[in-house]
Amino acid sequence: MFENLSERLEGVFQKLRGKGKLTKEDVERGLREVRLALLEADVHYRVVKNFVERVRERALGAEVLESLTPAQQLIKIVHEELIRTLGETPVPLDLGGPRPVPILLVGLQGSGKTTTAAKLALFLRKKGHQPYLVPADVYRPAAIDQLQTLAEKVGVPCFPTEPTQKPVEIARAALAEAKARGRDVVLIDTAGRLHVDEEMMAEAAAIKEAVSPREVLLVADAMTGQDAVNMAKSFQDRVGITGVILTKVEGDARGGAALSIREVTGVPIKFLGTGEKLEALEVFHPDRLASRILGMGDVLTLIEKAQEAFDLKKAQELQEKLRRREFTLEDLREQIRQMRRLGSVKEVFEMLPGIGKKLKDMPFDERELVRMEAIINSMTRQERLNPKIINASRKRRIARGSGTTVQDVNRLLKSYEEMRKLLRKARGPRGLERLALRLLR
Ligand code: GDP
Repeated sequence: MFENLSERLEGVFQKLRGKGKLTKEDVERGLREVRLALLEADVHYRVVKNFVERVRERALGAEVLESLTPAQQLIKIVHEELIRTLGETPVPLDLGGPRPVPILLVGLQGSGKTTTAAKLALFLRKKGHQPYLVPADVYRPAAIDQLQTLAEKVGVPCFPTEPTQKPVEIARAALAEAKARGRDVVLIDTAGRLHVDEEMMAEAAAIKEAVSPREVLLVADAMTGQDAVNMAKSFQDRVGITGVILTKVEGDARGGAALSIREVTGVPIKFLGTGEKLEALEVFHPDRLASRILGMGDVLTLIEKAQEAFDLKKAQELQEKLRRREFTLEDLREQIRQMRRLGSVKEVFEMLPGIGKKLKDMPFDERELVRMEAIINSMTRQERLNPKIINASRKRRIARGSGTTVQDVNRLLKSYEEMRKLLRKARGPRGLERLALRLLR
């Protein structure tokens, strides 16, 4: 699912990743491609427009341009805005109010409505509810049989609908029956049509009026892309829906419907149908879907770690200190601590193709950093702030205190001097990265 979109976006970010710092033009070019990728994925043009605008606003701010990992920052923003487009947080099924709770399923024929009714019944039964299934599609006698068969399969009772009954009557009678039987949720499968038509809408509205459902769930086939979105909008305007269940998402390589429906209708997606099996129903999590689209669940954690390790604010403080020629051994110790945090990040980097090539090629010896930190720890504050006073006897004391040798102490002091020189030349926050490279060589 979402294969095409994922691939396109991956391509966009791949190009940007090759660069160190991003310019405004880089960001604009990247955004143009993101826009195209979304349009090709059949995302509603208005959704695309809003999306790109939000990403641009943030990307052209300091957040990305002044970052040490700009491409990754951009990915992070795209990810966050995808989540926003998809609806931020999961919206659970509303099962409040008096028992039994009526839930209406509406949608076009072939969307998977009947199958989804059974899937939901199974889902609810597993959660400890006592659902009741109600076939209310009297135009297709086969639909009644279909739901009765499925009900048996999922072990949930089904109302014995007669094809001669009127849908509104069925819904009322079924609700009373469910109450008498002590069932707590009533799932009403309404009639669908091949296309949106007034009769279908009027009937759905009439049933809604009759039983005041807690939820009106629209079942929509994700494979139909923009049609699903327009259909959802019609149902929302005419009947009023409270949630959407997108079906057949596993076969939807583009993802346009999933990405558009929330913003166009203002109604949350509540579940995804991911196969013909009755277990193939997932609670919809915007964040997980966004990660799936970007094909990068783990990369996001990684970006956060890298951000922590290369703390921009600390880097700027360091620059400021350098400008004032105040880079002390205490600052070096702080840098070493940051480097050590980077160690775990590097392990993750190594598993990923195309990311942080420099970091990947960097030999990394955690023990060396531990030794350096120990040496600095053994110094007095005075020595750390003014290393010139460290004479031979002080060196011996520091070596003993840190379990190292005088040569080790000398090496550290020499590295520190070199770094001071190097850093004075390094401009901008990238100096820290250079320091990292120097330190670890
Ligand atoms: P209805 O006319 O809306 O009631 O649709 P049905 O429930 O009869 O489903 C139509 C077809 O879609 C059936 O073959 C279902 O097995 C299939 N279907 C339903 N949901 C899904 C899904 O999430 N994924 C896939 N691949 N097929 C589904």
